[in-house]
Amino acid sequence: MDIDNPFFNIQSCSEVTVAHGRGPYQNTVWALKSIPLEAARGRRVLLKPNAGRVAQPCSGITTHPEVVAAAIDAFREAGADVAVGESPITGVKATEAFDATGIAAEAKKRNCPLIDMDVRPFIEMEIPDGRVLHKLQLCADVPEFDIIVSIPVMKMHMHTDVTLSVKNMKGCLWRRSKVKLHMLAPIEGSDEKPINVAIVDMASVLRPHLAIIDGTVGMEGLGPGAGEPKRLDCVVVGADGFAADAVACRLMGTRAEDVPHLRMGAERNLGVIDLNRINVSSENWQDWSCCFAKPPQNLSIKFPKITVWDNNSCSACQSTLLLFLKEFADRIFDYLPDKGHLDIAIGKGNTDLPEKTLCIGNCTAQCRQDKPYVPGCPPVASEILKKLTGHTTLEPRKQTEKE
Ligand code: SF4
Repeated sequence: MDIDNPFFNIQSCSEVTVAHGRGPYQNTVWALKSIPLEAARGRRVLLKPNAGRVAQPCSGITTHPEVVAAAIDAFREAGADVAVGESPITGVKATEAFDATGIAAEAKKRNCPLIDMDVRPFIEMEIPDGRVLHKLQLCADVPEFDIIVSIPVMKMHMHTDVTLSVKNMKGCLWRRSKVKLHMLAPIEGSDEKPINVAIVDMASVLRPHLAIIDGTVGMEGLGPGAGEPKRLDCVVVGADGFAADAVACRLMGTRAEDVPHLRMGAERNLGVIDLNRINVSSENWQDWSCCFAKPPQNLSIKFPKITVWDNNSCSACQSTLLLFLKEFADRIFDYLPDKGHLDIAIGKGNTDLPEKTLCIGNCTAQCRQDKPYVPGCPPVASEILKKLTGHTTLEPRKQTEKE
């Protein structure tokens, strides 16, 4: 992969454009006018949206298909050879995610190739200055492109605070190798979470050449998979992914300096996050900001009768569990002998768990001898329900008059 970025030079590297109020397609078209796309003529361009999950457009989980459509059209018009690629979270097939998100339909209309980047064997990529990661297993398609465009959707994230263009590049890592970033041992002498340091290590060798951040409908709260949709109707574009992410952070009501992977990346000179050093070309852009609810530090705030013991789990387990709890947390207690409280563990290396903790996912297999256990990577919601209640589905709770 060509590390030189054709879209910025010393003068323009911290230019960011925000488009608002025109809908996803026109916002993207308008914002991309600020980028000299002619530099992509005759080159191979990989569009890397967030199509990591099976989710409907406008759910705030995946990139809006019209943003991807506009990017395909703009790069085609500039004379580039364009494809769209993804390696989704564990347990999801790229083809299913492309179909569900509406990205497949837009790509097919345009005869634009869709790449399931998990099909081919990985290639290894060294990280010369890595603190916790020293090599990556990269999807083999990625280095065959001259230009990588990260097209995330604006989301809060339970483990990394936000997930934007820098972190979205994790979807270029091959299959389950993504999970390794969540399984790293604590860093001796440092309070930083290993996942955040790992993202910075990844960004030291794998950064987008262009960020197109979809803020049509983002996600607040329990992101990346179980939060609430948040409509913003904007698109952020910039050649420095860190600068684009910093502007997106402000639009989401947070500060990039408070997001560890962005702060540490800027400290390592991988990009600029100081808004005083970023020229945002839309004058009143801060008027469009809209405070996204932060992810709760403790899930018991959201589910007061449940304690989740989460030790280095990955997004796939978190999403399965959170979606399960959103659906069933109000009803499962009717089936439990001890109706007062439920402990659930996910992730690797949980120790000293309360006696009857329900351990879910293969990463908790070491507890299977003396605790209820649901295997799977990721586990399946119906199996969790069966383990707890003996049923694979539950009737909706009847509403009382008061409700
Ligand atoms: S068991 Fe869960 S936390 Fe472990 S790798 Fe699989 S999905 Fe991730």
